[in-house]
Amino acid sequence: MAELTRKSLGPNQHTGVAPAPRRRVLLPLPLQAGAYDYALPAGLDAPPGSFVVVPLGPRESIGVVWDGEPDPDLPARKVKPIAGVLDVPPMTESLRRFVEWVATYTLSPPGAVLRMAMSAPAALEPPAAKAGWQIAPGSIREGLKLTAARQRVLDILGPGEVRSGTELAEAAGVSPGVVRGLADAGLLIPGLLPKGAAFPLPDPDHPGPTLAPDQAAAAEALRGKVAKRDFDVTLLTGVTGSGKTEVYLDAVAECLRQGRQALVLLPEIALSAQWLERFRRRFGVDPALWHSELSSRTRRDTWRAVAEGAAPVLVGARSALFLPFPDLGLVVVDEEHETAFKQEDGVIYHARDMAVVRARQAQAAIVLVSATPSLETLTNAETGRYDHLHLHERHGSAGLPAVEAIDLRQTPPERGRFLSPPLIEAVRDTLARGEQAMLFLNRRGYAPLTLCRVCGHRMRCPNCTAWLVEHRAQRRLQCHHCGHAEPIPRFCPECHAEGSLTPVGPGVERVLEEVEQLFPDARRIVMASDTIPGPAAATAAAEAIATRQVDLIIGTQIVAKGWHFPHLTLVGVVDADLGLAGGDLRAAERTLQLLHQVSGRAGRAEAPGKVLLQTFSPDHPVMRALVSGDVAAFMEEEAAGRRPGHWPPFGRLAALIVSSEDEQEADRAARDLGLAAPRVAGVEVLGPAPAPLALLRGRHRRRLLLKARRDVPVQPVLREWIARVDLPNSVRVQVDVDPVGFL
Ligand code: ADP
Ligand code: ZN
Repeated sequence: MAELTRKSLGPNQHTGVAPAPRRRVLLPLPLQAGAYDYALPAGLDAPPGSFVVVPLGPRESIGVVWDGEPDPDLPARKVKPIAGVLDVPPMTESLRRFVEWVATYTLSPPGAVLRMAMSAPAALEPPAAKAGWQIAPGSIREGLKLTAARQRVLDILGPGEVRSGTELAEAAGVSPGVVRGLADAGLLIPGLLPKGAAFPLPDPDHPGPTLAPDQAAAAEALRGKVAKRDFDVTLLTGVTGSGKTEVYLDAVAECLRQGRQALVLLPEIALSAQWLERFRRRFGVDPALWHSELSSRTRRDTWRAVAEGAAPVLVGARSALFLPFPDLGLVVVDEEHETAFKQEDGVIYHARDMAVVRARQAQAAIVLVSATPSLETLTNAETGRYDHLHLHERHGSAGLPAVEAIDLRQTPPERGRFLSPPLIEAVRDTLARGEQAMLFLNRRGYAPLTLCRVCGHRMRCPNCTAWLVEHRAQRRLQCHHCGHAEPIPRFCPECHAEGSLTPVGPGVERVLEEVEQLFPDARRIVMASDTIPGPAAATAAAEAIATRQVDLIIGTQIVAKGWHFPHLTLVGVVDADLGLAGGDLRAAERTLQLLHQVSGRAGRAEAPGKVLLQTFSPDHPVMRALVSGDVAAFMEEEAAGRRPGHWPPFGRLAALIVSSEDEQEADRAARDLGLAAPRVAGVEVLGPAPAPLALLRGRHRRRLLLKARRDVPVQPVLREWIARVDLPNSVRVQVDVDPVGFL
């Protein structure tokens, strides 16, 4: 009753004290509710963007002061006070708008997106000031008698300079005891170390290569766009080896001159040793890096340096989009067609598309780079939404490699082997000339399937709809989806026959085995994610290849990426048809992109390159496009195929993946969603159907696909649809807007 009275009086007529102002605070948690209201205690200043500590239930949490009006009707007793404001640059308005945009587009709770923008919580605490030593003022007098060791320490320190004890001892070549002795004698006193210089400033005028005429023209156009300091999208294309990287590095230089920050997104940052080497050559220093393998300390320092504007150029994986750049002037998305830019769990988003949005919010230029752009981007360029710059030839004297198909129906490999006679011949010739050859097969392990010769039983993963892949070196069968592994059994689990299990089909390990028999003298290296686990291994491998300590490279898709191996003249694709199977909308486009990129590794210096594609369908449009080199015609055909049915990019798609540990429950939920499907003009729902991976990590999965005309905004339709259906908590519904994978 008392409460009611107070409310009717208005909160403050009673006391005459002005109400504590309120702020909306968004927490980095996947809460549907969005921002919560908190009271701002007197004396505290927290404008939007401030990082604040707030009570949350029995704990405290860090959040960001968000925009918008707090709810005036929320009773004061329900509004807890902000506990403190953190000493870190506030999140910029443009990043806040970006977080909201991504949340709305992907149908994710805003807090889940905010969490990606706060991925280094330790960076929110001010870096602890560290203590070192400095010369005590007035302590150095004429005639002061010192040991040589002590003198050397004092000689190193300039007036007022502070250095750490370890550093001092090392620089003077003395033991740490000498430094302590000087402190005990009062000649050194403690001082605070200066904050570590975060990242050196890349020098935009560091001498770079002289650009060829069409490179120079493209670079000039890009510099102009960066200098405009406004949103602008450009597609930069050109065959592999045409020098696109040097062109966009020139745009990075202009961004530095403008005093703004540049962000370069690479699909596989952990494997970009050669790229970093080029950056170093162009700018004299290393860029800041952002990827999942950073130590937590580097992560913290980098996040903070970005926030403080002290990291002028950052090169990273897709998650770098959510770093707190105060003044982003340029975004580059290299290999923009790569599916690695799509994040498939948590907040499901496509970093290439979101990069365009980020650039728009930041009024920055963005460059999408590829030899084989996605049909999405190509269409945007054709309709004039994006500008298009194109480099016509390979840099220097290098020509494009000659591509030929090997028809496996005509010249099959020997029984139980995977390399056909013409390919073996070509490898032999290449090695005889002292050049390097590469065999490409996008499959890790020894064999993709293990089968019982007696009863036909196939070894499957218990948690996933997937065969187990033999990894011979570890003597294990592995699931490439959930990580399940088991020893290769001696007896068939079905019919108990002994020694009957036999590998079917090749992985890179099996190709290696064949090569060992065919070319015992060739020095070999296998490049796959399990043999090249990180940046150090990638650098070592690239080094070994560049210095000709390797003759034959056998690799999965990681060898397709950006490498420049001047002595590599032959690329053999062991199974060019792999990837074409299955009902995936983009299977052909993706296969073409991957194989074109692999082919581009051949003949990048003077010696001409050759590419051989082993295929059972040499007449397939993908093979024909690779052989003729006419990628443009292939993409036109793709477009013609997708336009009439309103398939992307001429229409929109969104997938719902319904999953549960209980199969019946998954079926029921999928059926209920199917029955509640929206009836909206221009929208069609396909499914439900079991997902190709109908069981994944122990969850049963069903898919529904919403297809809409381009002019239909699908998010509101999806939101209403899902809200209409009551689902048990144990059922998860993932929304994948613009799906790339269809597993
Ligand atoms: P792309 O990115 O188009 O595949 P790159 O930028 O990797 O091509 O260039 C291919 C090779 O040519 C690289 O080794 C690069 O260092 C070299 N290169 C490109 N442009 C120049 C130039 N203007 N001067 C000297 N070397 C260049
Ligand atoms: Zn599995």
